[in-house]
Amino acid sequence: MPFSGQNFKVIAISPGIAVGRVQPIRRKGAPGAPVLHEISPEMVPAELERFRQCVRDTREQLIALTQAVRTKLHTEDAGIFDAHLMLVDDLSLTSEVEKRISDNLWPAEYALYDTAEYFVRVFSNIQDEFLRERAADIRDVFDRLMGNLSKQERRKTDRDDRRIIVANSLSPSETVSLDNSRILGFAIETGSATCHTAILARSMRLPAVAGVPAEVINSLSADDKIIIDGFSGRLIVNPDDRTEESYRLRAKSAVEFYHKLERDKRLRPETTDGFEIDLAINIGSADGIAELKRSGASGIGLLRTEFLFLETRTLPDEETQFEIYKKMLIAAEDAPVIVRTMDIGGDKLDNNIFRSSESNPFLGLRGIRLCLYERRDLFETQLRALLRAGVYGNLRIMFPMVSSVLEVLEVRRIISELQARLAEEKKEFLRKPVLGVMIETPAAALMADELGKHVDFFSIGTNDLVQYTMAIDRGNERVAYLYKPAHPAILKLIHTTVAAARKHNIYVSVCGQMAADPELIPLLVGLGVNELSAESGSLPLMRRVIRSISLYDAARVAEAAMASPDAYTSLELSLDLLKRCVPELFTENIAGKERK
Ligand code: PEP
Ligand code: MG
Repeated sequence: MPFSGQNFKVIAISPGIAVGRVQPIRRKGAPGAPVLHEISPEMVPAELERFRQCVRDTREQLIALTQAVRTKLHTEDAGIFDAHLMLVDDLSLTSEVEKRISDNLWPAEYALYDTAEYFVRVFSNIQDEFLRERAADIRDVFDRLMGNLSKQERRKTDRDDRRIIVANSLSPSETVSLDNSRILGFAIETGSATCHTAILARSMRLPAVAGVPAEVINSLSADDKIIIDGFSGRLIVNPDDRTEESYRLRAKSAVEFYHKLERDKRLRPETTDGFEIDLAINIGSADGIAELKRSGASGIGLLRTEFLFLETRTLPDEETQFEIYKKMLIAAEDAPVIVRTMDIGGDKLDNNIFRSSESNPFLGLRGIRLCLYERRDLFETQLRALLRAGVYGNLRIMFPMVSSVLEVLEVRRIISELQARLAEEKKEFLRKPVLGVMIETPAAALMADELGKHVDFFSIGTNDLVQYTMAIDRGNERVAYLYKPAHPAILKLIHTTVAAARKHNIYVSVCGQMAADPELIPLLVGLGVNELSAESGSLPLMRRVIRSISLYDAARVAEAAMASPDAYTSLELSLDLLKRCVPELFTENIAGKERK
């Protein structure tokens, strides 16, 4: 392996250290094809057995179907299933799949997919019309086989068998479908700490790195072992024994340190001079609500509703959404739950929800823009579901990607209209919904004073605020070096937002990744925000930092940082305070990591 022993500086996107063998994912085939990851030679017998079991299940189903059709309908209608049964029994077809599993080291799904494509292609090109039409039968049979295969339990992976996924990219929907119990983490080429794949990795507590050079990704195979360090951003290929041992020790010590921090979860997140900062959690699934109690958070600071639909890739109807929101609000008891209306666009849902082929989706019809101008139907469905569910708990509704007061006024008008309709329908609904906006465009931050007249709270989305202020694509690893939330330009925008919130006496939270970064927390506390919201795994560390610094010191650091010439200088000011007040962050290698 050409890169053996080499240690690469990459981008840390989800904390944790993983040491293990590689599971490479290669993208082949049309969109919608199953992801191809090589399996190890030892996994071949189990994968063959999965496929054979799936063939047996499919046979049984087809026999049952044939009998059912024969008794209920006409004999000739059952002929179709007889033909399908013959295909399943056709040895040339099954042996092709098995060959692909054993020879190519492909998982059964991909082997089945590839064989289907091959047969459909061959049959579609045949001159004889009767045989050509068999292509549709083949497709049907393969779909049935694939359905049965996906229901098969995979062999439970031994702990030692868990691997590190290596791929050029992973989309948010591929990331949510990863099985935590089967993998140790992932290393990808394309991505950064604030792309949505990274956000999901953190909520799944999977160590991950991005920015791995393509040559390295392409050269790794299932026999290679790698270390990924999701704290400092390192990837080491085939480490020697000493390096591996030292990383295993570091991983153990990090786990112990985090365990210790978890014990403090009942302690109030207040500064040493008694100023309390609310700690809330960001979630992206209905189950995420369980994290509320587990983490000791004060509420849900951000529910990314578009993530609820990542796997199905469609937005459900009003009733389904109403049930989801209602259940969550009841489970949260009286804790505030900030539900953000769907923020589709950018790098999120790969769309059949809206017709996107924009050349620059992050500057396109994303978030509230899509809702107001193209898919008002989806927006109204979601708002109706929220207004109805809101009577069951402490709901706050938030709107993403706002860049003008006019958008807020339009949203308010739509809500009034929907309320009037709900009243006519004699449905129960929230009469005075608490409404807020994300401050994630420079325009919104600069106009916070105006926006503050029309909303009940602000939540600063630093992931996008940095992207739009610094003019860098947040998912592009090539400009990730410019992604600096400590940049004085960003601090000034947050300062302007907090000042407007104070003037209008409204609450201001930060729900971007900056809120979870221990090195940046003194700056946010010093700027005077009321709440920090992040993935639940980050809360123990956030609590420790808040409880170790004073508001007085943090405010002085924030003021000096705003006046500093660049992001490095302002970050140094924050680090100086942390070195004095939370030295364990440095001994544990959590802060002061390489940033340039
Ligand atoms: C943000 O932009 O900071 C934010 C929290 O929203 P998202 O990451 O979903 O764009
Ligand atoms: Mg955002």
